[in-house]
Amino acid sequence: MNYPCQDCSQCLEAPAKVNLTLDILGKRTDGYHELATVMHQINLVDRINLKRGGTELRVSSNSALIPVDEENLAYKAAQLIFEKFAVREGLQIYIEKNIPVGAGLAGGSTDAATVLYGINHLFGLGMGLETLLDLGARIGSDVPFCLLGGTALACGRGEILTPLTEGPPLHMVLVKPDFQISTREVYQAFRLEKVNKSPDNPAFLAAWRNYDIINVAQEMNNVLETVSIEEHPEIALIKQQLLASGALNALMSGSGPTVFGLYASLEEAGRAFKNMQDKYKEAFLVSSYRRSERHDG
Ligand code: ATP
Repeated sequence: MNYPCQDCSQCLEAPAKVNLTLDILGKRTDGYHELATVMHQINLVDRINLKRGGTELRVSSNSALIPVDEENLAYKAAQLIFEKFAVREGLQIYIEKNIPVGAGLAGGSTDAATVLYGINHLFGLGMGLETLLDLGARIGSDVPFCLLGGTALACGRGEILTPLTEGPPLHMVLVKPDFQISTREVYQAFRLEKVNKSPDNPAFLAAWRNYDIINVAQEMNNVLETVSIEEHPEIALIKQQLLASGALNALMSGSGPTVFGLYASLEEAGRAFKNMQDKYKEAFLVSSYRRSERHDG
C-alpha cells in the first residue's frame, strides 16, 4: 500500500520494484507466460498528487517521456474506477516521475497502483485489497504486486501473490543504460531452450527467510537476460562493472535494461555508486522500501 510521501501530506509515494529472481515456466494458452518471480520494492519513488475537481480526468507530469492521455496507466486506473462507481466528478493527477521509463522497474504499474489506492481513499469508495487487486490485474501484470508492496513471490502472469516476510534490508546500485526496452518484445523473443540455468526459487526463499544475504545474492537469477543481453551486450558490461565494484551479485531487473548490484552494506553500495555515477547518467543508490519509514499522514 502507498502512504503519503515524507515531503508533503498531499501526495502519495509510488515505489519502483526490482525482480530478485525471474523464471518463465512456459507459455499459456492466453498468450501470457507463466511466471515465478520474486519482486521487491525499493525506495526509488514517483510521487502522485490527486486533486478532486473540474469535470475531466487529467494527467500531467514533470516528464516528457510518458503519455498524459488515456495511454497513461494512471489515467487507465482512474478511468476503470470511475466507470465502476459511475463517478461524474473530475480529477487532476500529477505524476512527479523519478523512476526511469521503460526500464524494467514497473514505473507505470506503480503509478497505476497508487492511483487505484488513492482514489479509493479520496472518494471513500471502501474497496478492500481483493477488489483493488482484481482491478489492478486488469491494468497490467505488475500492478497487483505494486498494490501489495514489500516483497512477494508472484506466479501466474504476476497476479498470484505470496507475500514474503520483510527479510534482510537490501542496499543496491541501479544503473539504467541510455536506451529503453519493450517488455512485450522481450517476452516474445524468449526461448526456453536458450536458458542454461533457471532460478532456484525454493533456495532463494530459504535464504530470504534466513536473512542470509550471501545466498540471497547467489540465488539471484533472471532468465530474460538471455534475450536482453543478446540484443544489448552493454547490459553484460554493466553487470561486470558492478561486480568489479564489490557487488555480491548483479542482475538485470524484469525485461531490462536496468541492472542492479547488491552490496553487503550501505557503505559499500555508496562507494560503488560514486564509481558508477561517473560512468552513467542514470545511476541510483537505493535500499529496500520500508513501510516503517513512511508516516501514515
Ligand atoms: P515493467 O517493469 O512493468 O515491465 P517498465 O518499467 O519496463 O515496466 P514503464 O516505465 O512502466 O516500463 O513504461 C512502459 C511504457 O508504459 C512506456 O513506454 C510508457 O510510455 C508507458 N506508460 C504509460 N503510463 C506510464 C506511467 N505512468 N509511467 C511510466 N510509463 C508509462
